[in-house]
Formats: sequence, C-alpha cells, structure tokens
Amino acid sequence: MQHTLKTPVTFKGVGLHGGARVIMTLRPAVAGHGIWFKRTDIELGDAMIPAIYDRVERTPLCTKLVNDSGVSVSTVEHIMAALAGCGVHNALIEVDGPEVPIMDGSSVAFVRGIMAKGVRQQAAPVLAYEVVKPVTVEKDGARATLLPADRLEIDFSIDFDDAAIGQQTKTLDMCNGTFARELCDSRTFCRKADVDMMRENGLALGGTLDNAVVVDGDVVMTPGGLRHDDEAVRHKMLDALGDLYMAGGPILGRYVGEKAGHSMTNTLLRALFETPGAVRPVLCDAETTARLPGQGLVWTEIPLVA
Ligand SMILES: [Zn+2]
Repeated sequence: MQHTLKTPVTFKGVGLHGGARVIMTLRPAVAGHGIWFKRTDIELGDAMIPAIYDRVERTPLCTKLVNDSGVSVSTVEHIMAALAGCGVHNALIEVDGPEVPIMDGSSVAFVRGIMAKGVRQQAAPVLAYEVVKPVTVEKDGARATLLPADRLEIDFSIDFDDAAIGQQTKTLDMCNGTFARELCDSRTFCRKADVDMMRENGLALGGTLDNAVVVDGDVVMTPGGLRHDDEAVRHKMLDALGDLYMAGGPILGRYVGEKAGHSMTNTLLRALFETPGAVRPVLCDAETTARLPGQGLVWTEIPLVA
C-alpha cells in the first residue's frame, strides 16, 4: 500500500549553491498525490513543482526541477532518495527558497527526521514502474542502463584520477531497508580543483567541509575522514535512487551506472518512457510491495552521525 508521513517534518539548513538559509517542511498528502514541491516564497503565480522526470532540467551539478511557469527548486536528489528509501509515496515539500537544504551532504538527516515521526499506510496500492525491456544511454565514456528485474537493484562503478577515490564498484539490492542501512549517510564528494572553479563561478557558496567530502589527490580534506571506504560510490547510488524516484513511483528494475551522473540518469528515465514497450505500470500486490525500498527499514539500523 502507499504511505505518507504521519505528521509534518521540518528541516533547516543552507542551500549548497546559493548559500542562503532555507526551511523545508514535508507535509502528509493523500493517496495518489505523489511528491510535489511548493515554493512558499513565491506569492504570485504557480509555486507548485511536480517531482517528475520530465520537469528535470539537466544540469551536471545537481537535479533541478522546473514547472511550466519557470519556477524551480534545485538539489532535490537527496530528499527524493530519502523519500524513496523510507517508502514515502505521497508528500508535499514546502521550501522557502530555490534550493533544498544540503544538511551534511547526505540523506541521513532526512531519513532520521522522517522515521522519527513515522510513516502511515494509505488505502491504495503502490503504482510502480516495471522495466520490461533493456534501455541504455551513453555519453563521453559514461553509461547508464535499466534492465528487467522484479525489484530495484543498483549497480554503480566510478573511476576518478584522485587516489582518494580511485575505482569503486558496488551492487545492492534495495529491499529490506538497504538504503537506510548502507547508503543514506554517504555524502556528496568533490575534488578541490572543482570546488575552486565552482567558487569562481559563484557556485557552491554554501559548500563547506561540513557538507561535502573534499578530496585533493590522495588526501581526504574533510575532518574525520570518510564514513565508508567506498563512500563516493555509495553516494552515487544514493543519487541514483533519488533521481530514479522521479519516475513518479518506485522502479522495478536493475540500474547499472558507469561513471553516470544526475543528468545521465534523467536521460535514461526519459529514454525508458519514450521507448515503446520498455516499461509498464504495475499496481503492486503484497509480494511486490514487500520488495520495495522502505519496506523492512529498522530504526536502529539508521546510521547515527554527529
Ligand atoms: Zn548527491
């Protein structure tokens, strides 16, 4: 069955790129509503932005959603991953600015916030999207693929010149609370050279060593070091979960990402829905629902981070 939040949950933080303070409140929503953002600072015009793949503006740095009136919200992928990973299908997300708060650069604060208040079951089955035909997109040596499977699996590999990241590969079946246990505390990472370049271009103004893992060659500059040896690939899997949730519901399929990023995962989703016979909507029965991310999530398994 579909789930929503038991009560509203509020998060306060800063936007990664703009650096402004932002307040975000997740509100319960009726069955069939899906995930929508609402810009509470927009008084005139359409402030509602659906979290759906064809509203994503493809940018290399983050996932940005834009509605028909040009009103946008950026860096939505970590809250979308948290909602997917906690099995929240319906929510209204109020934000008082153009960016979701970055928190510590991972989804752990969102997961703990959502699960501390709890989720409640609704009187309608989950609508999922089952991959029935393989779809692949490629660009500049990067590739993303969706293959048929009866559950969501994520298989990711990355290869960075910086020795602190290097080559990393990981595969996870997203059933049984895997997201909360294995991925939700892995942070955004970036290379020092990229941070310097972004700053020169007026980006990443809210970025600090507290909300991203910064590496320079073989050095991890973030105090306290890594949370997992392979934190970087785990974060890419977190991003993929969030970006895939923009399908409009859970995906049943195997995602394979090779050096892929936000923009490529979005291109893949577009290709999936544009390819005749590649995907079919399914109303989940009890057995299928039991395999969705968010089922089997155990509070004591959610990482505790300072
Ligand atoms: Zn990310």
